[in-house]
Amino acid sequence: MKVKIPKKTRSGLLVYGVVLNHNLHWDDALQGQCNHRTKEIEIDPHSPFIDETFIHEKLEQINESYTMGMEHETIGRLAFALAEFLRHDLDIEFDWSDIPNHHI
Ligand SMILES: [Zn+2]
Repeated sequence: MKVKIPKKTRSGLLVYGVVLNHNLHWDDALQGQCNHRTKEIEIDPHSPFIDETFIHEKLEQINESYTMGMEHETIGRLAFALAEFLRHDLDIEFDWSDIPNHHI
């Protein structure tokens, strides 16, 4: 089943936009970034692990929203585990077609 990635994603009181940034890895050596200042989750679409990266940044938002104090490494492992669960057990595939490009 295909599931559309939303243009806005909420966790508690935090509402963040989701955008594609084609230069994120080139400029900052990042696959994704959850920016609490600009309230944007940026994803580099060239990432070989784009779904895992999105889940990672979504978990960073949840971590902030609910002050969970999870370490970046814990979030990384959790993101891979959740992506595996969604893909293999639930047969869910992410559809990125609604997500706009980030303008610099
Ligand atoms: Zn992180």
